[in-house]
Amino acid sequence: MQATPSTSKTLVDELWEKRPLIISGPCSAESEEQVVETAIRLKKTGKVDMLRAGIWKPRTRPGSFEGVGTIGLPWLQKAKAATGLPIAVEVAMPKQVEDSLTFGVDVLWIGARTTVNPFSVQDVADALRGADVPVLIKNPINPDIELWTGAVERIAKAGIKKIGLIHRGFSSYGNTEYRNAPMWHLAIEMRRRFPDVLFINDPSHISGRRDLLLPVGQKAADLDFDGLILESHIDPDNAWSDAKQQVTPERMGEILNSYVWRHQKA
Ligand code: PEP
Ligand code: MN
Repeated sequence: MQATPSTSKTLVDELWEKRPLIISGPCSAESEEQVVETAIRLKKTGKVDMLRAGIWKPRTRPGSFEGVGTIGLPWLQKAKAATGLPIAVEVAMPKQVEDSLTFGVDVLWIGARTTVNPFSVQDVADALRGADVPVLIKNPINPDIELWTGAVERIAKAGIKKIGLIHRGFSSYGNTEYRNAPMWHLAIEMRRRFPDVLFINDPSHISGRRDLLLPVGQKAADLDFDGLILESHIDPDNAWSDAKQQVTPERMGEILNSYVWRHQKA
């Protein structure tokens, strides 16, 4: 496998200022064809700035699909080469950080099941020391914004300059309208604490279902979030993870077109 350094630093720098910043792509990378085709079809919508795909999947229960692993990173490189879309990947362990940087991943994100554990966040932070890569930090699965704040502080102390927050809602027991309750007031409090940090909403993991992507994303736009991260898949019903909340790239284009944003910046 050939490692190539990132070529789109300048593009990511520009995108960091774009409003809204839109990230989309499959919950999980499943095959090279799936990743590249998703990217090409997302790019065609003209609405998506960056491609996301999970390579290592922190599943709640063992025995379900846990991600393709490092083998998927060259697929993302190909998707980027085909579309120009920078790529974003979830990292939870030092080796995943190293592999992602080796393969030129443009943006890293820390998932909700990692933010919850200060040891894990510190391990990731230590692996990031000296790296010049933007990092997005999802809220922890439980509604504890001190943990979320601590994760931001650990990553900042590691010298990461471009940090963003992703609000993906908070888990609770039993059936609720949302897969993860948004508890918007907690997001608003985090924004108050970190007014200059990129602030992104994740309607897919809040909703857990397609029909809520519109109202949740619009609520985020109304609250003046800086952007959205949304899951999309070429065959949503047969996605290997999070099938119920994914939509085709074309449907994603329609959804993105229907949001009304208070502020826009190219
Ligand atoms: C994901 O983005 O696919 C994911 C696992 O999200 P979260 O960490 O928000 O559950
Ligand atoms: Mn997912």
